[in-house]
Amino acid sequence: NKQIVLASRPEGAPSREDFKFIDAPLPEPDAGQVLVRTLYLSVDPYMRGRMKDTKSYAPPYALNEVIKGGTIGQVVESSEPNLRKGDLVSGMWGWQQYAAVNTGDISLIDTGEAPITAYLGALGMTGLTAYFGMEDIGKPKDGETVVVSGAAGAVGMIAGQIAKIVGARVIGIAGSDEKCAYLKDKLGFDVVLNYKHEEDMSAAIERACPAGVDVYFDNVGGGISDAVLRHINRNARIPLCGQISSYNQEKPDIGMRPQTLLLTNTALMKGFLVSDYAKSFKEGRAKLAKWIKEGHIQYEENIVEGFEQTPEAFMGLFSGDNLGKQLVKVADP
Ligand code: NDP
Repeated sequence: NKQIVLASRPEGAPSREDFKFIDAPLPEPDAGQVLVRTLYLSVDPYMRGRMKDTKSYAPPYALNEVIKGGTIGQVVESSEPNLRKGDLVSGMWGWQQYAAVNTGDISLIDTGEAPITAYLGALGMTGLTAYFGMEDIGKPKDGETVVVSGAAGAVGMIAGQIAKIVGARVIGIAGSDEKCAYLKDKLGFDVVLNYKHEEDMSAAIERACPAGVDVYFDNVGGGISDAVLRHINRNARIPLCGQISSYNQEKPDIGMRPQTLLLTNTALMKGFLVSDYAKSFKEGRAKLAKWIKEGHIQYEENIVEGFEQTPEAFMGLFSGDNLGKQLVKVADP
C-alpha cells in the first residue's frame, strides 16, 4: 500500500522533496469501517495552505502523515450492511492506494448521473464552489458583465458558464492561449484575456468591459484582481473564492487597497468556503447535473496516470499545467 506523506513544509513553490513515498501494510478495517482501493485522487490548490503550519479554516497537515484530500475509490472489503464489495464511493482519505475508512466519512456515488471522475470536479467540490459562489454572492443577471479569473481551471470554467446561463456577458482571464481558445471557442466566453501577454491588465479589462464590471469571481488575487477591481460598477458583487497567486508567497503581497472603491461603489466583496454550504450540496449537485445533461455546462479534466505522479500533478497547479480539474488516475475500477 503506497502512501504519500508530507516530508517537509514547502518554502515558496512546493518541490518533489517536500513529499515522501512510503510502503505501508494493507490496513485492516475496524468495526464501522470498510477497506477502499483508490481509483482517482484530486489535487487542489487549498492543499498548499494546509502544508503551512499556520492557523486557517482547515488544520495543517502533520509532517509524516498521509496527505488528505478528495478521493474516489471502490470498496474491496466490507462487513458493513450499507456498503458492499464493488461499491464506488467518494471521501477524503487522500494520497494512498488503500485506506480503511469510517462508513460515515464516505458517500456512495450514483454512477447513473455522470462519469465517476465528475464527483471530484464538476459535480464535486470544485463545481459546487462555482455554484454557491455565483448563486449566493455573485448573483449575475441578464446583460451584466461578469469577470472570472483562473477561468480555465476547475472552478473558473464552471463559474463562467453559470453566468452565461443567465445571459451575462462573460470575460475569462487565464494563463495560456490554448486555455483562452478553449474558453472562447468551446465554452462561448465573450472575451478572453491571457494575463501573461497583457502588459497593462487594467487597460485590458477596460477594453474588455466597456460597461464596467458587475460581478468579479476571484480565484487568483494579486495584480490581476487589483486590475479588475479598478473597473467595478455600482453595486458590484465579488465572490472571493481563492487567491492562488499568493499561496506560495512567504510574505504578504501588498497591492492596491480596494476599500475606497468598494465603498464608493457600494460593492460587496465576500469570502466564502464551499464547506459552509454542505447542507445544500444535494440541491447544488442536482442543478449542476441538470445543466450538464442539457449541455449548458461542459467541463474538462486533466487526468495524469499513475499514483507516482501525484506530487507533480499537485505542483502543476501552480504553473498552470491543467485545463479544468486536475486529477490523478490511480487504478481502474
Ligand atoms: P484550478 O483548476 O484553477 O488550478 C489552478 C490554476 O490557477 C492553474 O491552472 C493556473 O492557471 C492558475 N494559477 C496558478 N498560479 C497563478 C498565479 N500566480 N496567478 C494567476 N493564476 C494562477 O484550481 P481550482 O479550480 O481547484 O481552484 C481555483 C481557486 O479556487 C483556487 O484559488 C482555490 O484555492 C479556490 N477554491 C476555493 C474554494 C472555496 O471553498 N472557497 C474551494 C475550491 C477552490 P493559469 O494557466 O490560468 O495561470
